[in-house]
Amino acid sequence: MEHVPNRIQILVKGMPLHVINSIRRAVLAEVPTMAIDYVVFTVNSSVFYDEYIAHRLGLIPLTSKAALGKYKSPEECAEAGERGIFSEDCFVKFELEGKGEPGKIVTLYSGDLKTSDPDVKPVYDRIPVLALTGDQEVRLEAYARLGRGKEHAKWSPASVATHKYVAEITIREELCKGAECGRCIEVCPRGVFKIMDGKVIVSEDKILQCTLCRVCEENCPSKAIKVKWRDNEYIMSIESTGALPVKTILLEAVKELSKKMNEFIKALEERGVIK
Ligand code: SF4
Ligand code: SF4
Repeated sequence: MEHVPNRIQILVKGMPLHVINSIRRAVLAEVPTMAIDYVVFTVNSSVFYDEYIAHRLGLIPLTSKAALGKYKSPEECAEAGERGIFSEDCFVKFELEGKGEPGKIVTLYSGDLKTSDPDVKPVYDRIPVLALTGDQEVRLEAYARLGRGKEHAKWSPASVATHKYVAEITIREELCKGAECGRCIEVCPRGVFKIMDGKVIVSEDKILQCTLCRVCEENCPSKAIKVKWRDNEYIMSIESTGALPVKTILLEAVKELSKKMNEFIKALEERGVIK
């Protein structure tokens, strides 16, 4: 339906709501991306606590497409990290260092992070991490690994994942006062109505913009408008943080769901529930 960099909007027909919702939830919680998870400080004489800097570093989106399949799974790597084993098949190492200057504020940005793998780097270079002045200094190593949004939002590849109903709007011609009224055109925030040949009609190219707010229905003086929604038709919107292309997010979410279904069937078979 619509696909601009980092954003996709698709019209889904004939799929039950719970399936769409499962995909939406998998987008947010199941698709792995890279994010900084461990930070080792050698020097920190800044005014920021270690934890504060580590938290900021964790939230910087990292390019993750090449990392899928190249690095071990989130589950294996979480365990390795907890044991302090920052192995190359799990972790990408970043280094960050900087010093303040007397009478001047020096800002360290995401783009100042030096990566051990050019495939995994900050999506945006101008995210401020911290500021230093005088003789303040920071030197640190940060380790990123694959993780999932269900563990921490920093691994979620999407900043937006929603679905909404598609509106079905009818105007009863015998009640509508047409162009001499035009109240619905005035009040609709999405420009869904227009005048054609003296009649007020629903603009088909704007119907998908309808938010189902029902302001038109409430403001129609002759109660000519009825706002409903279509069965099994939804608009799904996904916005990427930039860590993964938005189409990859969608495909990986479906793959993750199908993997879970297969595991579920296997578990039922193993327990003799199904044969
Ligand atoms: S507000 Fe109602 S009566 Fe007025 S133009 Fe719209 S549909 Fe017709
Ligand atoms: S429900 Fe709201 S957005 Fe939809 S047509 Fe009516 S006023 Fe416009």
